[in-house]
Amino acid sequence: MTFTRWEDRSVIVTGGTRGIGFGIAELFARQGAAVLLTGRHEETAREAADGLARVTGGRVAGLGVDVRRPGEIERMAAEAERLYGGVDVLCANAGIFPERPLRELTVEDVDEVLDVNLRGSILSVRACLPAMERAGRGRIVLTSSITGPATGYAGWSHYGASKAGQLGFLRGAAVELAPYGVTVNAVLPGNVRTEGLTGLGPDYLRRMAGSIPLGRLGETADVAHAVLFLASDEASFVTGQSLIVDGGQTLPESLDAFADTATS
Ligand code: NAP
Repeated sequence: MTFTRWEDRSVIVTGGTRGIGFGIAELFARQGAAVLLTGRHEETAREAADGLARVTGGRVAGLGVDVRRPGEIERMAAEAERLYGGVDVLCANAGIFPERPLRELTVEDVDEVLDVNLRGSILSVRACLPAMERAGRGRIVLTSSITGPATGYAGWSHYGASKAGQLGFLRGAAVELAPYGVTVNAVLPGNVRTEGLTGLGPDYLRRMAGSIPLGRLGETADVAHAVLFLASDEASFVTGQSLIVDGGQTLPESLDAFADTATS
């Protein structure tokens, strides 16, 4: 049995400046992989990368890449090739989750969420394909969500559509890329303590924590470990799949069922 030699692997993490993406970048760097993390702004991305390199002692670079801009996404793949000689793993994680009731939803709201979350993921995958096809192998892991694919939440219908759309994309991509040795999978986080989630307010965080059977919000490392598995050689026979990482939040059949279990 062989295990992944992470020190021979290069990893791109979009939306890696903070939150779940930063947690993913940190875990890969700690394993010894070479990491390129991105965010919209060059300076923020470089600062995050420098901080991570200092803490982990690993190879971490940062690049300003707005995933709404196709040219910048192409530059991201080219930069990973220039720095590290290829792209072994793409973590398409950049995402936004603005709350907007359906009645107030504007065309601009819809476009922005779809552009960042869905189109950004698709174009990130497309940009990394030439490097993966040349290598004859590759791992793609999308950060989707339970919201949309597994659950619904008032105020986040456009977000849910973008996250469910990622799964439709990944199934087609997984079939199309299998002949090149490239796998495409997704993680579906529940409520994970990040800067973005904290922005939804203490009341939201308290209510969410109370609805999770395992009794706590997720941490970025919980998601990162699932990503690490899907990106490993050990997961070479897993493609087109989505892995829920939510502390059991989507399991209770009703609030009553959850309350009964919690008090028994
Ligand atoms: P976060 O703390 O708000 O971080 C979002 C990341 O995405 C940042 O690094 C941000 O970088 C980047 N980003 C935002 N817009 C971008 C754009 N246009 N181009 C490039 N990068 C952009 O969010 P998070 O909670 O870590 O969420 C990360 C992913 O997990 C998202 O896809 C989200 O939908 C998903 N998710 C999160 C949760 C949760 O509970 N936290 C649950 C389910 C799914 P800059 O600000 O530096 O540009």
